[in-house]
Amino acid sequence: MKITFLGGLGEIGRNCACVEVDGSIMLLDCGLMFPDLDMLGIDLVLPDFEYLRENADRIVGCIATHGHEDHVGGLSFLLRELSFPIYGSALTLALARNRIEEAGLLDRTQLIAVKDGERRQIGPFDCEFIPVTHSVPHGFATAFHTPQGIILHTGDFKLDLTPVDGRLTDLARMGSLADQHGIRLLLSDSTNADSKGHSHSETSVGAVLYDLFHEFEGSRIITTCFASHIHRVQQIADAAIAFDRTIATMGLSMRKNVRVAREMGLLRIPDHRLRDIDDVKDVDPAHLCVISTGSQGEPMSALALMAAGENKFLKIKRDDVVIMSSHPIPGNEANVSKVIDGLTRLGAEVVHSGIEDVHATGHAKQEELKTLLSITQPDWFVPVHGEYRHLVAHARLGRQMGIPRDHVQICEDGDQVVLDDDGLTVMRREVPAGYLYVDGIIGDVGAGVLRDRRVLAEEGVVVVVVAIDVRTGSIITGPEIITRGWVYAPEAEDLLDQCAEAVRDAIKEASQHAALDIENLQRTVRRAAGRFVNAQTRRRPMIVPVVMEA
Ligand SMILES: [Zn+2]
Ligand SMILES: [Zn+2]
Repeated sequence: MKITFLGGLGEIGRNCACVEVDGSIMLLDCGLMFPDLDMLGIDLVLPDFEYLRENADRIVGCIATHGHEDHVGGLSFLLRELSFPIYGSALTLALARNRIEEAGLLDRTQLIAVKDGERRQIGPFDCEFIPVTHSVPHGFATAFHTPQGIILHTGDFKLDLTPVDGRLTDLARMGSLADQHGIRLLLSDSTNADSKGHSHSETSVGAVLYDLFHEFEGSRIITTCFASHIHRVQQIADAAIAFDRTIATMGLSMRKNVRVAREMGLLRIPDHRLRDIDDVKDVDPAHLCVISTGSQGEPMSALALMAAGENKFLKIKRDDVVIMSSHPIPGNEANVSKVIDGLTRLGAEVVHSGIEDVHATGHAKQEELKTLLSITQPDWFVPVHGEYRHLVAHARLGRQMGIPRDHVQICEDGDQVVLDDDGLTVMRREVPAGYLYVDGIIGDVGAGVLRDRRVLAEEGVVVVVVAIDVRTGSIITGPEIITRGWVYAPEAEDLLDQCAEAVRDAIKEASQHAALDIENLQRTVRRAAGRFVNAQTRRRPMIVPVVMEA
């Protein structure tokens, strides 16, 4: 019994683990991560798939715990290389399906829906799917019944006692598993492990929304939340309908998810209340509620375009009210602020989570995590899903709840744990687990490219072009200096001339001492230009020598 962590332990995102029993591998989620600001031009970040590629023949499937991108967004990339069935709730599969279908890879997988509480044998894996509450409906914790006892993986969860759909985290089942068999190993969500107290119930947000709709009767209301947060959409819709508004969805993923959720009976909005955003011209603004994508300030999203005055369906006017029913994910704060600023400039009143409780987290806070630990009483405990400090905070909670110090293990991406009769052994850095950067449709841009982009962004580039007769060492043409981002060329001609002069001198000097070859000359040119640029301007742009043999 082995578990390999490929992502999500040390960062929020790209969650991916392999559970191994009898030599077979079950993937547990395959997510993506959205890039940090310093990952220039990168669209998204994936787990390193090397271990999966090497062991492709042993993979029997993937369990998708819930439909968030950080858990299923990597599947459309992995399925290009490998083929396996995916198990999850019907909604999870519907959400995961979007990207897989876009990538034209539906024929490389089988989407197999499992029900709440279902226990199913998949190859050597005896899996049980236990309902949990989270910020997307129909998420699962997974119990693996193995020869080494029960491994319980919580998935993303909170303990919401009054969820919008009444579907509770099945603590009773977890407790009875612990009572009857004992939980040998617990893997539990650490996202909010450093937040005190108890998360707010999702239904508490509904009451706040209702009050806001009351307060702003007479204004056009535009709302935004995660498109997968079906329960939030429901509560916005309920408030809108209570105040006699027509609802219009905006943004591709919002429209798609609302359609899917209504078809599945998970979202109740009467037909006559719902319109397309291009079909609301005749609706009185005081009786309109728009539900839009863009809650994270994504630059090309419907809301960001509104804030820039560039949304073709909707122009923000004075007295519009925008309710941002969300909280920025770390890294997105700057984009979100920019959107709030733009909307405010256009005259809208913006209500966000810093002003009113228009958002509730989907992840358990300390008191909930302790409750889960006390109910499951695990023999061994590995915190998962979080940045390093979250994992450490969660480990501390585990010890507080009575798990012996050496039975709580902090693991990171690339680590492998082995569970046998003697207990849990951690093997550090056992498999490659670096970031796989995706730009466009091509995988792995590589750390080198990112380093170059950072230099280009911060310092610019200086290209030195020179043609040389290698036999005599004399310069035929050049050196010509071309730059972007170092100094503004038309205004700094003197500087460019001096730089060319410095390079010319260096080539002359070099041709007297050593045998000339192109590589040697390139090095000479780069060094001379670099030294000059640094001495004159204290900057370090990228120097690109282009030495031609004439
Ligand atoms: Zn997650
Ligand atoms: Zn999640």
